[in-house]
Amino acid sequence: MFDELTEKLEATFARLRGRGVLTEADIKEGLREVRRVLLEADVNFQLTRQFLERVEQKAIGVTQLRGVNPAQQLVKVVYDELTAMLGERQEGLKLSTIPPTVVMMVGLQGSGKTTTAGKLARKLKAEGRQTRLIAADVYRPAAIDQLETLGQQLDIPVYADRSTKDVVRIARDGIEQAKRARDRVVIVDTAGRLQIDAELMDELKRLKAAVQPTEILFVADGMTGQEAVRIAQGFDEALNVTGVILTKMDGDARGGAALSIYGITKKPIKYIGVGEKLDALEDFHPDRMAGRILQ
Ligand code: GDP
Repeated sequence: MFDELTEKLEATFARLRGRGVLTEADIKEGLREVRRVLLEADVNFQLTRQFLERVEQKAIGVTQLRGVNPAQQLVKVVYDELTAMLGERQEGLKLSTIPPTVVMMVGLQGSGKTTTAGKLARKLKAEGRQTRLIAADVYRPAAIDQLETLGQQLDIPVYADRSTKDVVRIARDGIEQAKRARDRVVIVDTAGRLQIDAELMDELKRLKAAVQPTEILFVADGMTGQEAVRIAQGFDEALNVTGVILTKMDGDARGGAALSIYGITKKPIKYIGVGEKLDALEDFHPDRMAGRILQ
C-alpha cells in the first residue's frame, strides 16, 4: 500500500543525502515534500500539520551537526515522529483477571466486524484461550448465520438466540453460558448501520453498561478514507472505545486516513486485517509500520 509513498520519500531524502551540512532551507524543502506525500496518502490534514511542526522543531538541531550524515538524522527524526503518530508501541488485547474477558466489537455495517470477530476468536483459541462468540446483531438475520458459519469453520462455539431482539438479554445469556463452560474470552458481535445514528449508539451504550466489557474494539474499514476518522470519533465519544482494528489493509487504497485514527483519538490500533481469510489478522506495530512507510 505504501510503496509509492516510500519511493517518494526515498527520492526526497536521497537528494539531501551526501551533503555534509543541511541548511534550514534544505530541511524546509524536504519537509514540504514529506507533507505532500502524507496528504497524498490521505493522512489527516490536522495530524500532518502537527507532525511536521514537531519534525521541524527537532530537525533544526540537525542543521548544527556536522560530520554525521545529517540526512540520515533527519530520516531518524521523521521515523520517530511517524512512529509516535501511529501509536508509539504495540498493544495487545487486555484480559480481565476474572474470566471471561468480554470483548465488544463495534463499527459500521460492512466494516468487517463479523469477520474480524472470527479472526480474533481464532487467534485467541490458537493461544490456548477458550473463546465463545455471541451474535448480538439481531437486525440482519444473515449476520447471525454468518457468525455461526464462522464458528463452525473454526470449531468455536457461538451463542445465538433468534427468539428475541433484546441484545442485552442475548449478551447476558451468552456470557452465562460462557461462565458455565469456563471460557476465557467472549466476543460480542454487535449490529452496525451504514451510518452512525442515535438509536444504534443507544443500544450499544446499554449493551456496554450491561456486560461491562474489558475491551470495546472499534472496527474500521481501511478503505473508507477521511470519513474513517470522523466515524471513529463518533463511536469513541459515545462508547469510549479501548482499541481499534483496521480492516482491508491489504487493499491498494490509501490507508493513511485509517492510520490517522490513533493520532486523533489516541486509541491504540491493536490489529490490522490483511485479507478475507480467517488467518489474515496481524498485530499492529507502530514502529514497524513507520519503517514500512519509510523503508
Ligand atoms: P460487518 O458488516 O462489519 O460484519 O462486515 P463483514 O465481516 O461481513 O465484512 C464485510 C466484507 O469485508 C466481507 O466481504 C469480508 O470478507 C471483507 N473483509 C473483512 N475484513 C477484510 C480484510 O482485512 N481484507 C479484505 N480484503 N476483506 C475483508
